[in-house]
Amino acid sequence: MRNIKFLIIHYTGMKNFQSAVDRLKDPNSEVSSHYLISRSGRVLELVKPRDIAWHAGVSAWRGIKNINKNSVGIELENKGHDFGYQKFPKVQIRNLIILLKKLKKKFKIKNINIIGHSDVTPSRKIDPGEKFPWKLLSFKDVGIFHNLEEKILKYYRGKKVIGKSRYTEIMNLAQKLGYTFTNFSKKNLSYFTKAFQRRFRQNLIKGYFDQECYLILRNLVKLHS
Ligand SMILES: [Zn+2]
Repeated sequence: MRNIKFLIIHYTGMKNFQSAVDRLKDPNSEVSSHYLISRSGRVLELVKPRDIAWHAGVSAWRGIKNINKNSVGIELENKGHDFGYQKFPKVQIRNLIILLKKLKKKFKIKNINIIGHSDVTPSRKIDPGEKFPWKLLSFKDVGIFHNLEEKILKYYRGKKVIGKSRYTEIMNLAQKLGYTFTNFSKKNLSYFTKAFQRRFRQNLIKGYFDQECYLILRNLVKLHS
């Protein structure tokens, strides 16, 4: 049995369900996934978890590169940012949570390792995107979130994090959560910031790591790493 450590959530980014199924099943597409969940909540198992699927591409998490071999991929039917990004229906999320709970138990996955495609490939991918309910997943014990209050956080929005060394500190803290960098360049900080905001500060995605992001990041590390 391969060593499954991570559960990766995606959206299909295709115009409709059938084209997503066709693409994921087509051996020439070089993309596959273990599960696909339709907007009506139907769960398809396309690849057995014991086998590798090709869903993450060039990727890294927790210091491990190319994480297909260590992960299970779950695709959610959604047109995505290119074709009209949609809200995720309740029934789709409900059935996703049921599936995550089952996989978490079976493979002893930690909540901190239930993540999105954009977390493992921040320079290339933005799925499942800023409409995905990470806070609800955390509440259901299949994922992580911060426990800071919105009304307090708001005050720090857009404010500059002072000091040059802070950027090294930010990336070090990010690595404690699992984000993995080839180097601490400005570019990588900006990619990370967008992925981080899509997940933990969904109403403002700018790629600028402000004080609000800094507080959230420190809170997450304190709670979960
Ligand atoms: Zn994806």
